[in-house]
Amino acid sequence: MGHLSCLPGPLELDTISITEILTNGTKSMSFKPHGKHLIAGNWVAGAQNFASSPAHGPSHEYAAGSVEDVDAAVQAAEKAFWSYGYSSRDARAAFLNAIADEIEARAEAITEIGTQETGLPEARLQGERGRTTGQLRLFASHILQGDYLDRRHDEALPERAPLPRPDLKMVQRPIGPVAVFGASNFPLAFSTAGGDTAAALAAGCPVVVKGHSAHPGTGEIIAEAIHAAIARCNVDPGVFSLIQGGNRAVGSALVQHPLIKAVGFTGSLAGGRALFDLCAQRPEPIPFFGELGSVNPMFILDHALSNRGAEIGAGWAGSLSMGAGQFCTNPGIAIVKAGAEADAFVAAAQEALGQVGAQTMLTDGIAAAYRDGQRRIAGTSGVQEVLTSVCDLRDATPYLYKTTAQNWLANEALAEEVFGPLGVVVEVTDMDEARAVAMSLQGQLTCTLHMDDADMGDAQSLMPILERKAGRLLANGFPTGVEVADTMVHGGPYPASTNFGATSVGTLSIRRFLRPVCYQNLPDALVPEMGA
Ligand code: NAP
Repeated sequence: MGHLSCLPGPLELDTISITEILTNGTKSMSFKPHGKHLIAGNWVAGAQNFASSPAHGPSHEYAAGSVEDVDAAVQAAEKAFWSYGYSSRDARAAFLNAIADEIEARAEAITEIGTQETGLPEARLQGERGRTTGQLRLFASHILQGDYLDRRHDEALPERAPLPRPDLKMVQRPIGPVAVFGASNFPLAFSTAGGDTAAALAAGCPVVVKGHSAHPGTGEIIAEAIHAAIARCNVDPGVFSLIQGGNRAVGSALVQHPLIKAVGFTGSLAGGRALFDLCAQRPEPIPFFGELGSVNPMFILDHALSNRGAEIGAGWAGSLSMGAGQFCTNPGIAIVKAGAEADAFVAAAQEALGQVGAQTMLTDGIAAAYRDGQRRIAGTSGVQEVLTSVCDLRDATPYLYKTTAQNWLANEALAEEVFGPLGVVVEVTDMDEARAVAMSLQGQLTCTLHMDDADMGDAQSLMPILERKAGRLLANGFPTGVEVADTMVHGGPYPASTNFGATSVGTLSIRRFLRPVCYQNLPDALVPEMGA
């Protein structure tokens, strides 16, 4: 990969799968998936197929991945690493920007297939596309600055007694091929060319994506955009492969392949834990960066509750039901002091949630899991129903429940994530109980404080506990809407993530796919990245 920049583009779009229709001067596109894997630059049919289950529109046939497909993709990724892993930051930045351009060139078609497959509204897909391309461009500019390399230099001290010190330099180096599991709930920003892929490519690591079976067509058109960027930038095609799902053996084979050096994953606790265990059991264990479950508790402190409890309740309802509640940062639990002010908070949340209509969930499986979770909460003794609803299987409508802190503490299952628009209000009698609830929490992606100035003392008493529990703490806001930035931490203690030292959002996420190497007394010509 010698080119410092890519050919101007986007290139002519792939006429096999995309037809452009000009209607009234507006460009619209209709994407017809061919259903193949992309393995090292070739579109490969499967020995077997699986049918997609879109929320709307026609189902299509897709190649089901096999262990042989995984091996071909990983072998090609390893070969590509010998050039891509040693390419310049300029070249990798140009490649990331070219991927963003190619995604934008397919904007309408991506929104069309994405909405059909996931049931998410058009505006959401459009916003997520902007987040995806913005993320690629941010990572491109970030690696150009060079700070992420964390370059260090301890100069030689030849006169030091009793022993001289050698010249020591340290720099972060890419680790090799990375496996990425696309997330069902972010078909663009956390899937084929999403955060994990962008971070690995920025670091210098080839990527093999295991496509999510909930949106194979969206995966295909994004793979096509990456394929076009590879051609424009003269990158080894092994730098990116997409193996479609339809077969659990694909994921297992991918994480166990000896040439895979790390895994990025967003999904369920059960699925993530199974794959994490496989990574740990390998002859050469590798890091598994899994972003799993979180209930994202909100503590509403007394003065905030009394001054603006109803406003917070209505705001909570909006955050809880956004995107049918299918966000990893969905705030599923609100902790308030029992009394008339808590009643006003609950009434406002109930009223706002009552106005939210049915929303289509991402998959039948996720909808079924939502119902199971709802039945689990509703069936726990001491839980009071505040708002209930009825809807079709693939749809979600909100539910709201209330319980006491004593009951919540006595029933561990109440602290488990219900993926969807379901909220539980936990009523405490005083701050001691609020701290006991905080202490009992498992690892979280986020914890939120709603507080006024007069709540400062109570907030200070919670902070040391919450800091140990979550990757991100926030005040007077809602945790949905994760900024892609240098300071973002989207991770936390288990089970929020399987690696509390890492984030899957923001520029620090690149760090997951690097490892430090120390160069002792090596001539400068042998030490990478030590220049500007
Ligand atoms: P999932 O079932 O964990 O699947 C995620 C990915 O891992 C898919 O590609 C899946 O393959 C693969 N996979 C799962 N278990 C596997 C195993 N044992 N062996 C090999 N591969 C495996 O997650 P999901 O389908 O996206 O959603 C299901 C549940 O996950 C939701 O109800 C929710 O509770 C949770 N979820 C959490 C988050 C979050 O942000 N924390 C996000 C999304 C979902 P297939 O494509 O073949 O299924």
